[in-house]
Amino acid sequence: MQTLIIIRPYAVNRGLVGEILTRFEKHGIFFSGLKVHWIVREEAEQLYGQHKGQDFYERLINDMLEGPSIMAVLDTDVLDNESAIKLVRKIIGDTDPAKAEMGTIRGDFGLRIAQNIIHASDSRTAAEREIPIFFEKKEIVKYREKK
Ligand code: GDP
Repeated sequence: MQTLIIIRPYAVNRGLVGEILTRFEKHGIFFSGLKVHWIVREEAEQLYGQHKGQDFYERLINDMLEGPSIMAVLDTDVLDNESAIKLVRKIIGDTDPAKAEMGTIRGDFGLRIAQNIIHASDSRTAAEREIPIFFEKKEIVKYREKK
């Protein structure tokens, strides 16, 4: 499976990168792609296009452009795509930090929905659409002998 996470500029600015990446690593999830990237408007609009027209859209896009993001393609060969994507969504928690369970990334470090700290693809279709916005094929490594 492959899915995308983006540690958004707000979280990078707060020094939460290591804490957040550790959560995935400790579940046995691998990083197949990992980089620091300052998102441009066109990419943010592609990522969040489904929210165009919502009152929070402009703020959401502008927040993504505020500074560098950390983005990763996550991989595990022991789960099928949908199970792995569900697990990643469970690790990050509910979109609204006020509703996210303690122990999830958003539940532990988030404060307001408008200043969300992390993005994760919410389905296989979404992952397949989102990964190529930010990663070229050659930037994604395939591990050879994972068990
Ligand atoms: P996600 O997949 O859990 O991040 O949720 P969505 O795709 O629905 O939302 C994407 C991002 O839009 C969220 O991470 C929030 O930053 C923002 N967002 C979503 N819903 C709201 C809302 O009701 N109010 C505000 N201010 N922002 C929102």
